[in-house]
Amino acid sequence: MKIAVVNHKYHYEMEKLVRLFLPNEKIEVTKDLNGGDGLYTQVGDEITVYFKAGGFERRLTAPLCGDNEMQMGRMVYSIFGEYTSFYPKWGVLTGVRPSKLLIATEKRLGREKTEQYFYNDLLVTNEKYSLARRVADCEKSVIGLSKPQSFSLYISIPFCPTRCSYCSFVSHSVETKKARSLLPEYCELLSKELEITGKIAYETGLSLESVYIGGGTPTTLSAEQLTDLLKSVENNFDLSVCRECTVEAGRPDTVTEEKLRSLKNGGVSRISINPQTFSDEVLKNIGRRHSAQETVTAFNLARRIGFDCINTDLIAGLPGDTEEGFMASLDKAFALDPENITVHTLALKRSSGLGAQDMSVTAENAKKVDSMLGYTYKKLNGKYHPYYMYRQSKSAGNLENTGWCKENTECLYNIFMMEECHTVLAAGAGAVTKLKAPSLGKIERIFNFKYPFEYISGFEEILERKKRISEFYGTYF
Ligand code: SF4
Repeated sequence: MKIAVVNHKYHYEMEKLVRLFLPNEKIEVTKDLNGGDGLYTQVGDEITVYFKAGGFERRLTAPLCGDNEMQMGRMVYSIFGEYTSFYPKWGVLTGVRPSKLLIATEKRLGREKTEQYFYNDLLVTNEKYSLARRVADCEKSVIGLSKPQSFSLYISIPFCPTRCSYCSFVSHSVETKKARSLLPEYCELLSKELEITGKIAYETGLSLESVYIGGGTPTTLSAEQLTDLLKSVENNFDLSVCRECTVEAGRPDTVTEEKLRSLKNGGVSRISINPQTFSDEVLKNIGRRHSAQETVTAFNLARRIGFDCINTDLIAGLPGDTEEGFMASLDKAFALDPENITVHTLALKRSSGLGAQDMSVTAENAKKVDSMLGYTYKKLNGKYHPYYMYRQSKSAGNLENTGWCKENTECLYNIFMMEECHTVLAAGAGAVTKLKAPSLGKIERIFNFKYPFEYISGFEEILERKKRISEFYGTYF
């Protein structure tokens, strides 16, 4: 589809908006439609938005105002809503962190005007505003605990037993001999990186609040490798004020009693065991080689070993899943009584197996997923409350991922990371260090190499880049 952009610079925003309605459409930005189909947008004496496709044709105009971009966005929303009979519940809001936006807006405008801004300017529905409001209120109390010198540590283990078909992360399946052979050297270098990172944190006077070991699937490592990794954290960082250590044990087919004991003995306070769905058929559709029963077994084992904070992830909108199927999965997760339940909306990136097959994210699919999220709200609300939330591009209906938790079991790292309220020092392949100073509005990022083989071959360069952390704290603190 063509988007003609005349006399304004909002083409990127308009393209993002159109993608809410037509996610798989190829978009070409141009200066004129030359009488053909497409979207015409202009800022002149007034704002003009015109759309023509097949037999459908609409033209809207509006006077110039203080925020022409937002006005144009609302006009595009209105036309495409009519064209597709679908009105995204987050309105014209395309950003990935609605609760962060809400907190920032509230600081500027106060509570009441923020509400009006979300309803009237962004066209966010009452349902979604209430969700963002509840998340923001919960997050504010956690963020308040973070001090200017606080930081979190993220450790990346980009290895998995096999690759899920919806996954777009850089994660290597250890099914291949090549990836498996990298693991010992990877772990060794990771330990060195942690040693250097720990020294920098100590010298700059940083104070570690939370640790998150993610990936990939960290429990792809052996029990011994996990023990060594956790020892490396303990030996190189001051954990005296650290309040949380999470390890993703996402795939139940990697969970063994020995590994869980390594985690428990190594001071891990929270783990994630992720069913994604409790339907064996849907598990097969997404390339997971474990059964729903294996998830239950892994969960019960973790409980028996003494984990008292367990998260379970589910995904709404998986291929072959139905509303009833999702509801049954949520009921089963609920029955396990985990402390956290995170419900994701399927987002298909091109780099995932399913994305490459061009599984359309249609408005119809968005409605189905929306109804799944509606059930989630009804089922979880009360026993759980929403504590963090984000959105991903290419998700059905641009709907959200929400972390729900029982009272006082919020994952602090998820909130710190999502609200970008303090520094995250990161280690491992694909990890990104995010430096945050209270005096600076923006975050400064230091990237590690993405793939494990690059991480190994470019390790010296990674250590070199880490020097920026000390410079940053020397400059801004
Ligand atoms: S377990 Fe997670 S990281 Fe690994 S392939 Fe599946 S979705 Fe990707």
